[in-house]
Amino acid sequence: MKAGGLKRRVLLQGGSIALMLGVHQIARGASILAVRVWPAADYTRVTIESDTRLSSQQLVVGSPPRLAVDIEGIDLNPELRELVGKIKPGDPYINGLRVGQNAPKVVRIVFDLKQAVVPQVFSLAPVAAYKHRLVLDLYPEQAIDPMEALIAERLRDAPRAGSSSGSAVAGIAPSPAPSSAPAVDPLGELMAQQSMRPGPPAPPPPVTSGPDRPPVLVVPAPPPPVVGTAPVRPVPPPPPPPAARGGTATASRTDRIIIVALDPGHGGEDPGATGPSGTREKDIVLQVAFRLRDRINAGSVSGNPMRAFLTRDADFFVPLGVRVQKARRVQADLFVSIHADAFTTPAARGASVFALSQSGASSSAARWMANKENDADKVGGVNVGGHEAQVQRALLDMSTTAQINDSLKLGGAMLGEIKGIGARLHKGQVEQAGFAVLKAPDIPSVLVETAFISNPEEEANLRRADYQENLADALMRGIQRYFAQNPPLARSRQL
Ligand SMILES: [Zn+2]
Repeated sequence: MKAGGLKRRVLLQGGSIALMLGVHQIARGASILAVRVWPAADYTRVTIESDTRLSSQQLVVGSPPRLAVDIEGIDLNPELRELVGKIKPGDPYINGLRVGQNAPKVVRIVFDLKQAVVPQVFSLAPVAAYKHRLVLDLYPEQAIDPMEALIAERLRDAPRAGSSSGSAVAGIAPSPAPSSAPAVDPLGELMAQQSMRPGPPAPPPPVTSGPDRPPVLVVPAPPPPVVGTAPVRPVPPPPPPPAARGGTATASRTDRIIIVALDPGHGGEDPGATGPSGTREKDIVLQVAFRLRDRINAGSVSGNPMRAFLTRDADFFVPLGVRVQKARRVQADLFVSIHADAFTTPAARGASVFALSQSGASSSAARWMANKENDADKVGGVNVGGHEAQVQRALLDMSTTAQINDSLKLGGAMLGEIKGIGARLHKGQVEQAGFAVLKAPDIPSVLVETAFISNPEEEANLRRADYQENLADALMRGIQRYFAQNPPLARSRQL
C-alpha cells in the first residue's frame, strides 16, 4: 500500500492494525448539522455534516474488527448521538457503534464491525444543499465482483424459473463435454466453472458471507486491480477477452446470455432532482429500474435469455465512473441510465433520450443536462485521491465513435416506444452531450430522462405504479426493437 492523496498511512507489522492520520486542520467550535448512514453491499458510507471542515484521525483494529474515529474540535452533541440509532441491523459492515467525548474537544466514534474493512475517510467542501462533509466509506477488504454478484443473483432466481427444458436456466446449464464454440458468454462460462466444482451444484449457492450479507459465491479470485495506488478496489477490472481464456469454453453460441446494464441515477448522498411534492429522483428511477429488470430477466433475444445487471440496487451512491466500470466488468451488451430530472422551469415536460457526444452538445439544453448529471459525483461525494476518481479519468481518453452510432440507434428505438405509450417527448430525436456515465467505449449507452420531476403533473405520473409499468414496457420494447435490428451475436465482445 502506498501513501497517496491527502493522507499518510502507517501499516504496522501483521496488517491487523493500520493507523491513518487525517489532514490536520483544526476546526474550532464546529457544529454538527446532520449525520447520515448509507449501508450497501458495495460499501457503507457514514457522513457527518458540519458548518466548518472537520479534522479526524482513524484507527483500524483487527480482532474483533473495529474502527475508531477521533473527530477534533467538537464536543459531543445530540446530532452525533443520533448516529447510534441510525445503524440498521442489515448493515453489511457495521454491527453497532459507540460515541463519546474522548478528550476535551475530541469526540471518538467506535464502530463495531461485522467484517474487516478498508476505510476511506475524506472531506468534501460545501456543494448543492450540503455544508462541509466528513465522509467515512467502509469497503470490504475483498471488493465485490459484479460478475459474481450477477451469477449469485441468477442462481438464487433459478428455482423460481422452473425446470422445463425451455427455461432460461436450462439454456445456460453447462454441457457435459466442452463445446468447440467460442466462449462468448462470460456469465455462462463462470457459472459453468462454478458447477464443475466439487459437491452438488447450486441452488442454493454456497455462501461465504455472514447472515446479514447477500450471498457471495465461492468463485475463482478476480483478476488483479487496474491501479495499485488506491487502498480500496471497489470494482475489479474487466476480465481478459474470451480469446485469452482459451480452452475453458463450455457455453455454446446459442447459450449466450444478453446482459443489459441498468443504471438508476443518483442514490445515497445524491438525491438527484426533487419534485414540487418532494418526490426524489433517486427513488423513482430505482423503482423504474426494478420494473425494467423484471421484464429483461423474463425476456429473450432470438432464443437467448436476457439478464439485467443493476449498477445499484439500493439507496447508496455509486460514482459515475464506477457505474461504467461495473457494466464493463459484466461485459454488458447495453447500458441504460435512468433519470427523471428537474429543469429550470416547472413548465418543462416530456421524455428525452441522450447519447454521448465527443464533439459538443446537440443543443444547449442537452449540454445543460449533461453538466447537471456530471455533477452527481460532486454531490454524491467522491474521494479525489481514491480509486473512483482514477476510474473516471481513465475513461476520458477512450474512443467511443462506434459506440455512439449504436447508442443513437438504441436511443431512437426507445424514443419511438416512449412516444407510443402516449408520453410527451421533449424532443423528437436522440440528443447528444458529454455525459460521463455514457463513456463505456464498448457498450451502446443511453441516458433516458423519463420525465421532468419538476413538472407537477409529470411528478404525479412518475409516482404511479401503472405509469412506471408502462414506462418499463416501453423501454423493454425499445431494447427488443434495437436487438431485432442489431442482433447481439453480430457484435464482438472483445474488450
Ligand atoms: Zn438525474
